[in-house]
This record gives sequence, C-alpha cells and structure tokens, in this order.
Amino acid sequence: MARSLSYDAYINSLDWKRKRVRWLASAGYMCQRCGAQNITLQVHHLHYHTLGEETDKDVQVLCIKCHEIADALRLMERRRQRWAMSEFKRKQRRGW
Ligand SMILES: [Zn+2]
Repeated sequence: MARSLSYDAYINSLDWKRKRVRWLASAGYMCQRCGAQNITLQVHHLHYHTLGEETDKDVQVLCIKCHEIADALRLMERRRQRWAMSEFKRKQRRGW
C-alpha cells in the first residue's frame, strides 16, 4: 500500500472495513481491554508503523471508552519519546 495514502482514506476503504470485520470476529466481539460485549467496538491502532499492512499484533479491538484511553496513552507515549529524543540530542550537544 502506498505510504502517501491518507489515514482517513484508508479508514474509509473497503480494505480496512474487511480487516475490521475480521478482527472484530477474532476478538469474539468483545473489548480486548475491559471485556465489554454488546456495545460499539472499534479497532484501535497500537501504532501507525504498519498502517495499511497491519497484523493482529498492531491493532486492538476496543469499546469506545477504552479506545479514548488507548488513544490518549498512545499520544502520551509519543510525546514522551519525542521528549526523550530531544533530551538525548541536548545532552549530546553538550558532550554529556
Ligand atoms: Zn473496553
């Protein structure tokens, strides 16, 4: 899949919809975090490194509540990594 494909276009694609249905089924139509059933489920990307070519390890089936938490955690992790990298560069510049 082309790397230039936008996230929105992908999420609305038939390819994604097919995969989504498969993941929901393999999760037993249950939130993989809290175990909730008979609710709206969404497929969460643990990261976007494999966008378009996700495997079972790259996604998680979550209820809306858990999805919000997971998105917030992913954002925090990305910020933390960015901060750690800028700290590293700063220290490197100073020659430690
Ligand atoms: Zn949940």
